[in-house]
Amino acid sequence: MSLSKDEIKRAIYHCVKCKLCSIATFHPQEAWSPLCPSGTYFGFQAFYAPGRMEIFRELLEGEIEEPTEGLLNAVFACTLCGACYEKCRRVSKVELPLAEIFEEMRREIVRRGWMPDAHRGIAEKVKRTRNAYGEEEAFESENLKPTKGADVLYFIGCTARFRVPEIADAMLCIFDKLGVEYQVLDEEWCCCSVLMRAGWHDSDIVREHIRHNYDAICESGAKTVVFTCPGCLKTLKKDYAEFGADFSKEGIELLHATQFIQRLMRERGLDVKELPLKATYHDPCHLGRDLGIYEEPREVLSAAVEISEMRRVREEAWCCGSGGGVKSAFNDFAVWSAEERLKEAEETGADAIVSACPFCKRNLRDAAKHAGSKLQVLDVVEILNEAL
Ligand code: SF4
Ligand code: SF4
Repeated sequence: MSLSKDEIKRAIYHCVKCKLCSIATFHPQEAWSPLCPSGTYFGFQAFYAPGRMEIFRELLEGEIEEPTEGLLNAVFACTLCGACYEKCRRVSKVELPLAEIFEEMRREIVRRGWMPDAHRGIAEKVKRTRNAYGEEEAFESENLKPTKGADVLYFIGCTARFRVPEIADAMLCIFDKLGVEYQVLDEEWCCCSVLMRAGWHDSDIVREHIRHNYDAICESGAKTVVFTCPGCLKTLKKDYAEFGADFSKEGIELLHATQFIQRLMRERGLDVKELPLKATYHDPCHLGRDLGIYEEPREVLSAAVEISEMRRVREEAWCCGSGGGVKSAFNDFAVWSAEERLKEAEETGADAIVSACPFCKRNLRDAAKHAGSKLQVLDVVEILNEAL
């Protein structure tokens, strides 16, 4: 979403600084739980949604002239999880698109050349290698058996290609087991989600990558693009359209893997065996709050395992802590957020915390290692692959 200065200022002045967006309530639970990872971890007002809005007001009204370390921390140590937005709109009945506002604030900051070094580093890697991790080698898997011109195209994403390849492998095996012909792009370039979340929308590199991926997908002949990464899906579905790269105009549908699998389950009644595993499901922010996809992953997962829910779920889910460029720039904060989520998952008595996003899996796995947690950290597609 691209917001005008008037829309941003109207939203900022609408915020009454009640700070109700910082707590998860209005559902039966014993205690008021925090909702904003950033404010809870750093503790200062500037790290909660109303404080960030005040910083943006000061920026727009010319009260901030220098990029101090404190300013950059407050602006960029936010996962853009959107929990504050969901809570605010329920209590205030006013739509203040907070995550978009904070992204616009970063855009304004980046225009002034004040970005964190970690994000500059990602931009350089993307430019040099066309992926966000600076990997020189192409993704390879023995399970990769693409068919040129197939109706389905699997957009793998940088994180599943280079950091959590078991998710890509599981998806490739699912296609195979279900007899679905698929193709992948010969040259899949980073979708640029992380750069856009970091405020780099106006850079040549973002425009170049959007154009490349859009043209390559349109020329592939695919009718459906499947994603295991909600960040890639959100970016191609919502952000690309703003740059004139609108897949709906080409009749191409974009689906998360759980939507694709749910459809096949309903149409064909897949043969899914029950696994002896108790799982709890972690809603990824891009999938849930950004795209409204809450039911599909639960339906797919519950076909194979028993689910026991955590206290904060769906719109009120606690973020894993890795989004919005936080994992690269503030890893300690990212891992702390995930450890908080693991504690909540452990309370349910589950054997595994299951998400539907490679970013979540990577960060939750790092946190489990750091905290010595016995919980397994898995993705829905890994469970389904096992159960097929
Ligand atoms: S709930 Fe809404 S109005 Fe209240 S402080 Fe948060 S953003 Fe502002
Ligand atoms: S987007 Fe998430 S981390 Fe950022 S201020 Fe809102 S609740 Fe906090």
